Amino acid sequence: MTVTNRRFVLASRPTAAPREDNFRLETAPIPELGAGQVLVRHHYLSLDPYMRGRMSDQKSYAAPQPLGEVMIGGTVGEVVATRSAGFVVGDKVVGMGGWQEYAIVGGDGAGLRKVDTAHVPLQAYLGAVGMPGVTAWVGLNAICEPKEGETVVVSAASGAVGGIVGQLAKAKGCRAVGVAGGKDKCDYVVGELGFDACVDYKAAAGPEAFFAMLRGATPSGIDCYFENVGGMILDAVMLQMNAFGRIAMCGMIAGYDGQPLPLQHPALILRSRLKVQGFIVSEHPQHWPRALSELGAGVATGKLKYRESIANGLDSAPAAFIGLLQGKNFGKQLVKLI
Ligand code: NDP
Repeated sequence: MTVTNRRFVLASRPTAAPREDNFRLETAPIPELGAGQVLVRHHYLSLDPYMRGRMSDQKSYAAPQPLGEVMIGGTVGEVVATRSAGFVVGDKVVGMGGWQEYAIVGGDGAGLRKVDTAHVPLQAYLGAVGMPGVTAWVGLNAICEPKEGETVVVSAASGAVGGIVGQLAKAKGCRAVGVAGGKDKCDYVVGELGFDACVDYKAAAGPEAFFAMLRGATPSGIDCYFENVGGMILDAVMLQMNAFGRIAMCGMIAGYDGQPLPLQHPALILRSRLKVQGFIVSEHPQHWPRALSELGAGVATGKLKYRESIANGLDSAPAAFIGLLQGKNFGKQLVKLI
């Protein structure tokens, strides 16, 4: 067994965009396992936008990431040693092991979930068949509740969450329209994921040009909007929402570094009788089993498609995370460790 573990801890809190020196690489010995503990060797780390929020100590729905402790994060890996009756060496597991090569999980593996990799690749449990996939499922089915024939728009459409939203909407008989940054991402969203249209916001000269493009892609208006970004995109969507439309507020990544995101047309919430609801996926545990089962079946049968951006080695995690916040990823951002 390897006796050392390499890990990234949060060294300081960013005041604007995160920098690599906000993280510190440490090496620590792996202690002997105590009763009920499991040692997991991580194969992949998940990098997710929510981690930016945890790096700050502002009021939020979750406590801040403590300084000097291993960066929070989802992981998949393999049990390499165990003193718990519930796990054997070789079990493939998903958990919240953080930015490190190994994790010791106590409480008889509490928080670890064994996964079947016969039909679903291990790392998909961090993406389409994991937290991002369930986020898409919950926001669409429990908040947007689209009906057949309605128009569903999603921003960050080529990403881990957005790509699933559009495919689930299509499966319900909706018109699915994505918003994404760049021609390559938009081509993928339409050509590979099967959306009906995609608007490249980076090709718009400004808010008015973007609105004209969005209007062209949504000739019957918008019934459901799955919001991942905020700012100019949300303002344009609001102008195009149909009466009694629903907006699932999932993320506002355009403001995660502290940028103000003023709403230009709040009166439209009243005039168009909109439902606008924020949600945090972990607060909807009742939906996870069904969502994971449907998403797993979709991936296993090849009906549900996804794409991954894979950074190699633990050392690449800070740069890959910073890139994710800048839109450099193309699909689910992972770090491959082995
Ligand atoms: P993605 O894989 O979609 O990656 C983030 C994408 O956001 C980038 O690729 C980029 O795509 C886009 N982006 C970044 N900055 C901007 C910007 N300034 N303006 C417009 N787009 C930008 O990430 P996820 O799928 O993991 O997450 C998507 C959203 O869902 C995030 O906002 C995240 O915080 C949220 N989320 C919320 C959860 C909840 O429980 N509420 C749970 C999980 C995720 P592009 O190049 O197309 O702009």
